Parts: sequence; C-alpha cells; structure tokens
Amino acid sequence: MQPRDLSDLSPYVPGRGAEEVARELGLDPDDLTKLSSNENPHGPSPAAVEAIRAAAPTVNVYPKASHTDLGEAVADRWGVTPERVWIAPGADGAIDYLSRACLDPGDRMLVPDPGFSYYPMSARYHHGEVTTYELSKADDFAQTPATVLDAYDGERMVYLTTPHNPTGAEFSREAIVEVTESVDEHTLVVVDEAYGAYTRAPSSVALTDEHDNLAVLRTFSKAYGLAGLRVGYTVVPEAWAAAYARVNTPFAANELACRAALAALDDDDHLERTVETARWARAHLRENLDAPTWESGGNFVLAEVGDAAAVAEATKRRGVIVRDCSSFGLPDCVRVSCGTRESTPRAVETINDVLEEVRV
Ligand SMILES: *Cc1c(COP(=O)(O)O)cnc(C)c1O
Repeated sequence: MQPRDLSDLSPYVPGRGAEEVARELGLDPDDLTKLSSNENPHGPSPAAVEAIRAAAPTVNVYPKASHTDLGEAVADRWGVTPERVWIAPGADGAIDYLSRACLDPGDRMLVPDPGFSYYPMSARYHHGEVTTYELSKADDFAQTPATVLDAYDGERMVYLTTPHNPTGAEFSREAIVEVTESVDEHTLVVVDEAYGAYTRAPSSVALTDEHDNLAVLRTFSKAYGLAGLRVGYTVVPEAWAAAYARVNTPFAANELACRAALAALDDDDHLERTVETARWARAHLRENLDAPTWESGGNFVLAEVGDAAAVAEATKRRGVIVRDCSSFGLPDCVRVSCGTRESTPRAVETINDVLEEVRV
C-alpha cells in the first residue's frame, strides 16, 4: 500500500532552526544568532505570553469563542465585516483556504519566481497547475504591472508578494490596482502582506472593499512574533465571505493561537518597537554588509555573496544562521533577517569576515 503519486509535489525548505543547528554543531542554541526565518528577534509580545498561560488550563475545549473574538478584532482593525476575515493556521493555512475556494482541478495559479514556495505547493495540493512570472535580478527584481501582466494568461489565481520574500521589493498601490483591474473577471489576485507591518506603503486591505477579485494575506508570524503558534488570515471581498464556512478546516486556528493573537493585536508598543528595530536593522545591513544588497520593505535584506551555500555554511559555523537562497533559485544570494540592535552588528561582522575569507 502506497500513497498516491506525489512526485509533482515538492517538500517545503524552511530556514534552519537554531535548535537543529546547535545540535549539529554541538553548541548551545543561545550562542546562535538565527537570522534565517524573518522571525521577531524581540520574541512575542509579553501580553501574548500571558494570554497563553491564562488559556492553558482550558485547552480541553474546542476553540470557538476565541476564534470569533479574533475575527471580530481583526475586522475592527481593518474596518471590514467579520465575515470577510478568514482566520487560518498561519498565512499558509489561508493560502490553502483560498486555493480550496478557487481552484478546480487543472486551474492555473500564477506566482512569482523567485518567490514564496508555499503558493505553488498549495496549488498542487489542490490539483491545480502553476505558471510563473519572472522577477529579474538584472532589473533589481522590480515588481511592476508589466512584470505580472506580460506573463498573465487567464490564470485563476495570481499572487503578488509585497514586500516580496526574499527580494524585499514592493508593488506600488497603483500597480496592484492596475493588475487587479487588468486581469479577467474570474481571476483572484492575492496580495501577500506577510511583511506588511515593516513597509511604509499602505495596505491593500482597503482595496478589497471595491474590488471583488482581490484578497489580502496577513500573518501573526512575523511582526507579531507568533510564528510558533501558526495563526494568520486573509481579508476577502464581501462576495467571498460565505465561502469560508465551506472551505475552512474546523478549529484549525487553535485556542492558544487565537488568544495570543488577540493579546498581541492590542500590544501596540511591542509592534512599534519591533518595526522600529527592523527598519533600523535593514538600513544597518544595507550600509555595512560588504556585498551588494537590495532595498527592502521587509524585516530582511537580500545580499549577493557569490557561493551562498558556502557562505551560509561558514557563517553558521561561527554562530550566525542566514538563509541560503538556492532553494529560491538564487544560488548567489543569502537573505539576512533583521536582528536586534545588538545582534545585527555582530552578525554583520561575522558575515563580512566570512566574505573576506571566501573571496581570497
Ligand atoms: C512567512 C511568510 C508567509 C507565511 O507565514 P505563516 O507563518 O504561515 O503565517 C507567507 N508569505 C510569505 C511571503 C512569507 O514570507
């Protein structure tokens, strides 16, 4: 007995975890600086930690009220009705909900290359096909309407990532409107704002009021520091609201995740501090790394270092974990997440030392 033919599906390649690397190198995880997964270097909001503690004794009960409360709180934040907020186990979960709601077998999804690998994975899980639009390094990975529309051929879904992972490039609001208005009526444009907190550009959530073919993804994993809990959401147009009940996995966003997210939403100080540090760190990275880098709207910077696998391996041995971008199709680039005001300069020194040695 075997599973069905899974040869078209590819495994997700995550950034290396500190625990993993520590075990491999025989080090204490506390001696490692993990700048490979765009996590919040300040940790979760203390209010979220408290909410998790407070909710722990009642995890024998299915998460119902907390899920409703979170949907309402998020809706309130954006000025939309709660039905338009699809809470999910991470933005990844929301990507699956949109795939389920959109894709018939054989339908196509247009995604960026390089880009976030879960979009095509989700398309394939839902028996869809994948096409790509190229973001060109020679063009500094520019994200314009033409970048997308030149490749567009009636796909059922189109993903726009802004700020983009791993390049940091952004779409302007005008570009998003142009793409949304240029595609066919049956095409859902999904704007992935996983890094939306870090940019100064306005969110596209407001555009979902007027465009019934536009959805926006947000997550509690990055700026809110709750990656380990798996909670995110998509805001959909009114016309899509009712589909949620038919596509969501029951209780997939768990009680602790919902309670922590509710608390985190209210902790403006933690969010502000997080964003301020990230903006400082990305400027620091760009100014001080001895390698070409690209402007970034996110909490990370892409750097061209030559042999990325070798550089990432060498920095790791010195306690700094960065993301080798080979799996994104960029074997000469590493992505360095923004750390704290203390860890970022130390990481830069380590990376620069390695670059000097590798180049000799
Ligand atoms: C991290 C990330 C997500 C998904 O985050 P979740 O942890 O599943 O909420 C989605 N899109 C991009 C571009 C990301 O980098």
